[in-house]
Amino acid sequence: MNPEELFNESKKVIPGGVNSPVRAFKPYPFFVKEAKGSSIIDTEGNSYIDHCLAYGPIILGHSDEDVMADVYSQMQKGTAYGAPTEDEIELAKEVIDRVPCAEMVRFVNSGTEATMAAIRLARGYTGKKKIVKFEGAYHGAHDYVLVKSGSGAACLPDSKGIPEETTSNTLSVPFNDKQALAYLLEEHADEIACVIIEPVMGNIGCVQPDPGFLKFVRKATEQFGVLLIFDEVITGFRVSRGGSQEYFGIKPDLVTFGKILGGGFPIGAYAGKKEIMELIAPNGPVYQAGTFAGNPISIQAGLSTLRRLDYQFYADLSRKSDEFRKSLVDILEDLGLKLQVVGLSSMFQIYFNKKPVYNYETAKKSDTDKFMIYFRELLKQGVFIPPSQFECNFISGAHTRDDLEFTANAIENAIKVAWDLK
Ligand SMILES: *Cc1c(COP(=O)(O)O)cnc(C)c1O
Repeated sequence: MNPEELFNESKKVIPGGVNSPVRAFKPYPFFVKEAKGSSIIDTEGNSYIDHCLAYGPIILGHSDEDVMADVYSQMQKGTAYGAPTEDEIELAKEVIDRVPCAEMVRFVNSGTEATMAAIRLARGYTGKKKIVKFEGAYHGAHDYVLVKSGSGAACLPDSKGIPEETTSNTLSVPFNDKQALAYLLEEHADEIACVIIEPVMGNIGCVQPDPGFLKFVRKATEQFGVLLIFDEVITGFRVSRGGSQEYFGIKPDLVTFGKILGGGFPIGAYAGKKEIMELIAPNGPVYQAGTFAGNPISIQAGLSTLRRLDYQFYADLSRKSDEFRKSLVDILEDLGLKLQVVGLSSMFQIYFNKKPVYNYETAKKSDTDKFMIYFRELLKQGVFIPPSQFECNFISGAHTRDDLEFTANAIENAIKVAWDLK
């Protein structure tokens, strides 16, 4: 079957033909046959340089041989136990060694689970019920955080099936807005359990915190007795060895992980101060559990991956990525287009927007129609990025300078098509 037929077939048995909504783009997505290194190959045999990288997890490139060897060897010893293993201790120690705020770690199965559990823990620890998030931030698909933005006020659900009562304790403020946050904390500190933040907003493209913003958030939360949760499901083990808290030098109370931590397999984790983490069951009164939590395959893949991610790895990957972003800036300059090339470390995006993007409101003003023309043209040229202006693109250790040159060329051509330039 060709991809159009596969999509039609899929739609009969899977809602919308996909198992996660962003994967369904028009007229139909390609179906994957296999992926290796920096490439992903579809059922028609077309090969794409992959900058989606499964929306973040694949930092060593697809199907890394050393990681796969460790995973095969673990598979021969069993795939799920319902009892603890030594490797879980090893991976927890690896996380604690890297991540400034991590004194204890609890493994779960996804980033969604991690933020859900961390929010429950923050509420359990503080005895307060409101939470604050930033407009446009994504913390997974669970009820408390799947909300529409609504400055300062209680948020409305962003999905049918979520009762308004469920989101009435979720407040939101614009990213990079110190005053809005300060005002909210002053007004409601005695009710607010935590502020949860993506230190770099990877789910509205790629927006960095203004200099001093994270420091301000840390100080303000401390001052008002509110816990600070860094949602590092994307930035963890992506922007540096110890994630964005190492990169920016800010220590939150709790942190959530997913994506890269599983080395390409499903995982999530939350970590933080011992005093808080000790409240989790069976030690304490905050319940949280999972059949597959600490799954030996995911744990092994995570260990095998993290052991490769040393400071040298991040230095090399950042240098490659900096050169690449510079080449995009040069291309746009040559074309006389003032679009925003953004990103840090191995994250990047081009906002189809002539003005700087610093929060959700400004990101939304990007030209998403042109972006989708650009996306489709990139596919034709052999480059796969997420099909949305509001996702982040990634570079892996497996991307060679030739790959990146190929991508830069394709981007130049695709931008010319989208903006109708010769
Ligand atoms: C992807 C993501 C999540 C959700 O993780 P899943 O594993 O998809 O449940 C949560 N927070 C952030 C910042 C993410 O990027």
